[in-house]
Amino acid sequence: MKLAGEYLTFDDTVIVPGLSPVEPHEVDITGRVTRGIHISIPVVSSPMDTVTEGRMAIALARMGAVGVIHRNLSREEQASMVKSVKEATPSPWIEIPRAFVKEEPGILPIRMAESGSRAVLLLDGPQLVGILLDPDADPSVWHGKAVWFWRIMTTIRPMPSLDSEGRLLVGAAVSPYDLERAQALERAGADFLVTDVAHLHNENALRMLSKLVKNVSIDVVAGNLGTREAVLDVLSRVEEVGGLRMGISSGSICSTGEVAGAAVPTLTAVLNARSALEELGAMDKIPIIADGGIRNPGDAAKAIIAGASSVMLGRFLAGTLEAPGPVITVGGRRYKPYRGMASRGAMERRHAADRYSRPSKALEEGVEGLVEFTGSVVARLGEIALGLQAALGYAGAPNMRRAWSASLARVTPQGRSEVKPHDVIF
Ligand code: 5GP
Repeated sequence: MKLAGEYLTFDDTVIVPGLSPVEPHEVDITGRVTRGIHISIPVVSSPMDTVTEGRMAIALARMGAVGVIHRNLSREEQASMVKSVKEATPSPWIEIPRAFVKEEPGILPIRMAESGSRAVLLLDGPQLVGILLDPDADPSVWHGKAVWFWRIMTTIRPMPSLDSEGRLLVGAAVSPYDLERAQALERAGADFLVTDVAHLHNENALRMLSKLVKNVSIDVVAGNLGTREAVLDVLSRVEEVGGLRMGISSGSICSTGEVAGAAVPTLTAVLNARSALEELGAMDKIPIIADGGIRNPGDAAKAIIAGASSVMLGRFLAGTLEAPGPVITVGGRRYKPYRGMASRGAMERRHAADRYSRPSKALEEGVEGLVEFTGSVVARLGEIALGLQAALGYAGAPNMRRAWSASLARVTPQGRSEVKPHDVIF
């Protein structure tokens, strides 16, 4: 038996404040997903059947992030979802005359000013998902949420994530064993692929991945991985790895740590990947995606300081209007379904949808539940973007690359409760 040392989690650490050369709103949070893919908000959605289908991927790419379409679908269905993103209008802005702006109950409690100003509506098909004022108009005429929303939208100024032909960027999940699916997704226009297995550090999986990568021409992100050895093995056996998806067992719906006892918490997994990439001098070549357990912009910023170039989010996006699944009302509160891809329900759907899927274990390693409904993903992304700028501002980093030189410090469990709101009644 060998004790491998201590694994730090987000809650064990805080960001050490540093001298900032810029104001928070000037911090550049442009991140990377793969060798070739840069995005202006460093957020990638999890390929899960309660998080990313076409609608989510379109909304994210319009705002400057990117979605990865899940694989609990037949090859044809997944490929046609990819196509729907490539065919969508890339602009996040749809301007309409003032006369069309009305109150939309349940989305944003807003009222149009009498000033004759124009508004900008964010539409997803016929659905209103957001609304903001003409930048020249006075925001004080808007109330509550709308003012906050307006500030987010005008501060971050969405820059859509686009390919070289001006179409929205989109990724898609594959098993390393499913070359045919990978090729169908590439033909459908996917910009990158993400392998979607709980433990890629496996002789067979790496052999198949190496073959898959040689037979597609788009970037392939390898994951999930946890240790430094795993990253070194992947990079020595697979020719051109597009990116590294790091984190084992930190996901909010994950039960692997409980049922199988194995875990590398996301913060530690990112540090491990960084150590391997630094040894190879490849930190600037191959981006690290921090995946699992990111609950807020602070966690995302810690992952970036540890070495990540973007973060993958499941739960944070699952409660939004754009995630698949209905809004469910329980006791007057609104929720959306969220489940692990290795939960019983999700595994059953995968095997029904894809007769080629290759179950390597029958064990359930995920749970199924509900998360609070949080409205449009546009506001949720704004929260992450503004929070990241603030966090990197504290760290003294004007951009993501410089954030890698910032520091995290370890806090005691007592310290942890002191740095949260405490001793007040809500
Ligand atoms: P969250 O953002 O909800 O904390 O974590 C999402 C991540 O959890 C996903 O991107 C994926 O890596 C991981 N995940 C998704 N489903 C399962 C599952 O059923 N079991 C485990 N172990 N991890 C999962």
